[in-house]
Amino acid sequence: MTSVLESPAPVTVRAPAKVNLELFVGPLRDDGFHALSTVYQAVGLHDDVTAALADDWGCSVRGRDADKVPTDESNLALRAALALSEHTGGQEPVHLSIHKEIPVAGGMAGGSADAAAALVACDALWGTALPREELEEIAAGIGSDVPFLLHGGTAVGSGRGEVVTAVLAKGTYHWVVVPSAASGLSTPLVYSAFDQRTAGTRLDDPHPSAALMSALRAGDPSALAPVLDNDLQADAIALQPGIGEVIEAAMGFGALAAIVSGSGPTVAILTESAEGAIDVAVALTASGVADDVLRATGPVQGAHVLPTVRTS
Ligand code: ATP
Repeated sequence: MTSVLESPAPVTVRAPAKVNLELFVGPLRDDGFHALSTVYQAVGLHDDVTAALADDWGCSVRGRDADKVPTDESNLALRAALALSEHTGGQEPVHLSIHKEIPVAGGMAGGSADAAAALVACDALWGTALPREELEEIAAGIGSDVPFLLHGGTAVGSGRGEVVTAVLAKGTYHWVVVPSAASGLSTPLVYSAFDQRTAGTRLDDPHPSAALMSALRAGDPSALAPVLDNDLQADAIALQPGIGEVIEAAMGFGALAAIVSGSGPTVAILTESAEGAIDVAVALTASGVADDVLRATGPVQGAHVLPTVRTS
């Protein structure tokens, strides 16, 4: 029989990676961020975060690239848990166990996914049951991509990316994802290369393009392919030329389109079907252009609680 005094069972939340179908960079704002207009799609590569009550705050990381992820308070999941605790007047410490599938530092927002997962997991564990808008506000304080990873699906991100508006999108999109290790490239470096390249140019306030919106409404990957766009792509390729080679090879192997995701270095390759994705992935691996090739389908749902697995 369950006692009311028993500790709550650990909660596991799954959160997806994102690709940017479109990323337009506008003028620098007073807070030092560029105004952005982006269209996010959540894709089926996931991190799982399990929150359990503990004596002390902490986190542990396993899975892909685990050795590249900090386990101190700079971990975005732990920061999110602490921010939620503070927002709700203080909660019992938790330990977060993070299982990573999303490449680290790849432009797929893995750290932000973990933060979104931690918010949903801790909210359920502590029973704080925060309204969605409040959870989104805390998410935006952690990072620009975090509100979208709560949301999932396909959505426009405005402001610095944190103001999320759902998009009318149909269809399923089959992606091949090539997460090369970053060499000479990081989000701040890509933005500073962009700043140098565009110095002296007047940047307009960015808006989602009508062509992309209409391709999404049609749900047609071949209509979407020619309108994928990323203002940071040229800068990412200039800093890490291998990215350009992956894009060129993917197009040669029959991809519909290949684009840098966010600030890179991950390349997101759109294909016409699940079979097409397998063909492109196999060809990329066989050619030696990429040794790490993943496949993912989008859109998928945002951070959500996984059913508890009964062990007895
Ligand atoms: P974005 O697209 O939002 O710029 P990214 O996908 O390029 O993000 P992340 O995987 O989020 O990059 O990691 C960026 C850095 O954040 C890493 O180098 C790592 O040191 C740090 N970090 C902090 N917490 C996490 C976490 N939970 N998972 C991954 N990285 C984390």
